Amino acid sequence: FDMFILAFVERLFRPTYRKDDFVLGKKLGEGAFGVVYRVSLAKKPSSKKDGDLVLKKATEYGAVEIWMNERVRRACANSCADFLYGFLETSPKKGAEYWLLWRFEGEATLSDLMLSKEFPYNVETMITGKVQDSPKGLERENRIIQTIMRQLLFALDGLHSTGIVHRDIKPQNIIFSEGSRTFKIIDLGAAADLRVGINYIPKEFLLDPRYAAPEQYIMSTQTPSAPSAPVATALSPVLWQMNLPDRFDIYSAGLIFLQMAFPALRTDSGLIQFNRQLKRCDYDLDAWRESVEPRAGLELRRGFELLDLDGGIGWELLTSMVRYKARQRTSAKAALAHPYFDREGLLVLSFMQ
Ligand code: ADP
Ligand code: MG
Repeated sequence: FDMFILAFVERLFRPTYRKDDFVLGKKLGEGAFGVVYRVSLAKKPSSKKDGDLVLKKATEYGAVEIWMNERVRRACANSCADFLYGFLETSPKKGAEYWLLWRFEGEATLSDLMLSKEFPYNVETMITGKVQDSPKGLERENRIIQTIMRQLLFALDGLHSTGIVHRDIKPQNIIFSEGSRTFKIIDLGAAADLRVGINYIPKEFLLDPRYAAPEQYIMSTQTPSAPSAPVATALSPVLWQMNLPDRFDIYSAGLIFLQMAFPALRTDSGLIQFNRQLKRCDYDLDAWRESVEPRAGLELRRGFELLDLDGGIGWELLTSMVRYKARQRTSAKAALAHPYFDREGLLVLSFMQ
């Protein structure tokens, strides 16, 4: 109960915003459930920090997204983009819309960075803050990819420890924060908070099939329909243990790891083809490897070589994430303790603001 009072007081003293506060800038995204703009403040009263903001005007799912962002703000702020405020805006023309406001974290998502020819060296420059001049090669690329995976798993561990499953983990929903020089997760529109039963019934249609784990339902279909909130609070840790819903995100994160190692899988068509091949191999990555490696071109072989460094430790981690059965997949916390991360990653120079 104290938590609620604290949250309420915190909310009371945080600056609030209204529709007329914003000047719309560039459109950053448009989906079936909302439009996202870069915005600035029309006036800049001293109580409101000025600077760049991001505004999402969302449909009915905006309510869940506000809930999730408020929870993340209090429980694991560093995992996700810095959320400022969310409110319901009703107009005669557009009806009810949820408006959500974040700090503008940076220009590039992991998707933008991965699609560049410079990847992963472009990320190295952004993380370390300068162009490195050591010779290019597999070892160096592996160190960069390892650092990205560590940051992603760290953010996921924060969400999962809070009881939130994201369910739409993909490079487009991972933003590089220029302030902290780390990757953060965005877009909690499809997320589920199992501790309090919010968005408990999975909306399969929200899931991106390119990155979705084979199980279509986060919770087993035997789980009875959504219990009311108080019951869910008591039950859900048990349900969490039984169904391991967090492993859905782990599968998606594993696919991102794979895309970073194999440039051919970074395009939509490449990933879709891979998914088809993996399905034909009954989701057994080792079987997939056996089927493609003998006739692999230079680029594909290079990806395997990268994952085979240090006695195949990268491949080992990858195969522990991308598995058919959720309960055989590693957790974010266990993955962070994997020997793949024993080697030192990139030095992140973050500056206090
Ligand atoms: P949707 O996918 O539902 O359109 P997102 O929340 O993923 O909405 O946002 C769309 C795009 O807007 C992202 O892919 C990213 O490019 C950009 N974006 C979202 N939030 C931020 C933020 N806090 N800082 C910078 N860019 C952002
Ligand atoms: Mg998105």
